[in-house]
Amino acid sequence: MSSALNLKTTPFLLYLIIILTLSFLPPALLINPTAGSRSLLRAISGGSDQSDFAVDLNVTNFDQVFKDTPASYAIVEFFAHWCPACRNYKPQYEKVAKLFNGANAVHPGVILMTRVDCANKINTKLCDKFSVTHYPALYWGAPPKFVGGGWNGKNEKSEIRSIAVEDARTADRLLKWINTQLGSSYSLEDEKFENDHLLHSNVSDPAQIARAVYDVEEATSFAFDLIVEHKMIKPDTRATLIKFMQLMVAHHPSRRCRRGTADILVNFDDLYPSNKWLADKHEPDNSTGHGPLGKFDVCGKEVPRGYWMFCRGSKNETRGFSCGLWVLLHSLSVRVEDGESQMAFTTTCDFIHQFFICEECRQHFYDMCSRVSTPFSTTRDFVLWLWTSHNEVNTRLKKIEESQKTGDPKFPKTIWPTKHLCPSCYKDPNQNEESSSIDWDRDEVYKFITGYYGNMLVSLYKEKDKQHVLMKSSAVSEEVLQSTNALVVPAGAALAIAVASCLFGALACFWRSRQKNRKMRRNRS
Ligand SMILES: Cc1cc2nc3c(=O)[nH]c(=O)nc-3n(C[C@H](O)[C@H](O)[C@H](O)COP(=O)(O)OP(=O)(O)OC[C@H]3O[C@@H](n4cnc5c(N)ncnc54)[C@H](O)[C@@H]3O)c2cc1C
Repeated sequence: MSSALNLKTTPFLLYLIIILTLSFLPPALLINPTAGSRSLLRAISGGSDQSDFAVDLNVTNFDQVFKDTPASYAIVEFFAHWCPACRNYKPQYEKVAKLFNGANAVHPGVILMTRVDCANKINTKLCDKFSVTHYPALYWGAPPKFVGGGWNGKNEKSEIRSIAVEDARTADRLLKWINTQLGSSYSLEDEKFENDHLLHSNVSDPAQIARAVYDVEEATSFAFDLIVEHKMIKPDTRATLIKFMQLMVAHHPSRRCRRGTADILVNFDDLYPSNKWLADKHEPDNSTGHGPLGKFDVCGKEVPRGYWMFCRGSKNETRGFSCGLWVLLHSLSVRVEDGESQMAFTTTCDFIHQFFICEECRQHFYDMCSRVSTPFSTTRDFVLWLWTSHNEVNTRLKKIEESQKTGDPKFPKTIWPTKHLCPSCYKDPNQNEESSSIDWDRDEVYKFITGYYGNMLVSLYKEKDKQHVLMKSSAVSEEVLQSTNALVVPAGAALAIAVASCLFGALACFWRSRQKNRKMRRNRS
């Protein structure tokens, strides 16, 4: 850090060469924002073959990574690979990055630590936008502020800040600077699940649910991985999976999961052909070990990330997937239309029964499903049934976990929502929350749940979307992302799925018809 180097002005000729070079590179490498995202994911998840924790960014993935990250803050280190000071600084930066990046991070999802090599010519403009005058140069801000952003040092109101060289010289100093910004007390000695002040500070803070959108993506991806790994797609379970995917295409809170599911759905007949399968007892190709679905990313290439945000337990073995699955189910339930409620209910029951690999859970859940004698005709009925059922599970587990000490001490089971979360849900403000017969104001409960799992859950996305609309470049990346969804399904199958999916709403219908049109265009050309 001490030998900060001044940059020389890049000659025009060099720009010309770069542009000419870039114009001969395959377009996917140039503009596909997800290019290299697998290696990126490896870097983020701290894969064994990858010793760096800070995520290497370049001009092709810079915006997309900041759009996708669940982290609340980000640091970008601009460096040059030939710069000796940068090489010496790397271990210091990595010590801090290790705390925040990767599946084994002590404090995941708080700060995304990244680096950009300005000596790589494709990054020249990017580094210019941040007025990089010395290496290494560190910048701090909320991830969306980096999307399409820059820094010129003159605008005092800029929401991106340069970190002074002195404040970042060593890992200790950098962490001290971070602690000052966040009011935190992170230490380089922090161990996983210890000193975890920030993440679990307030479970009853309603705003926390905004972070759960990332867990819903994680749970969706996790569920599909389990389904594939355990070869759960069989002639008698296939129809349920198709219906659940239709429900997801129409109502999943995450846009990229809707898109990924639509891709799978449209290709599903080819991947798992029902007739051939049934007639020949043909097992779908599993030569990759992941089955034909293995090549699809149900929620995009950045998911799974390997860690949980809202659903993170204070121990490795608690919370996580089952919490994410509940949040997925609730968030789907509040999004279905009245006319879809009965179908959504039976689809959810069948999905859990056939695809949730926890035997006790699926059996109990199915028992609760079987107790429903009158078909649901409204979203409200379905939402409140799921809420009551979840509370029934909570009540049962509360006793077991208290007696056997198997629960997560930081997240004891409670009847939900607590008074703190929704005071108006309780008819009697003095009623004990522990009571087995709470007098609920069901209208208020319904209002609360629809807001909580509806708008609040996707509020982080909405915030990023506002940013997204402002950026022309983002519109381009979005289009690129969509155009990579090539179709290989017979148009007839796509149409059949399209018709079926329309039962789950107009959005699914839109997806199906768009996919079908793309396929037809492809077939024609
Ligand atoms: C369908 C299903 C059935 C299950 N059955 C069993 C079982 O039989 N035995 C077993 O040991 N485990 C079962 N589990 C797992 C168990 O319910 C918990 O998911 C797990 O113990 C982790 O608990 P958690 O503290 O993360 O909160 P979870 O119970 O997973 O809840 C996740 C989040 O949902 C919210 N929430 C809590 N209650 C409600 C509610 N009533 N309505 C809406 N939102 C709520 C809270 O914000 C909570 O943090 C089941 C899971 C699922 C998805």
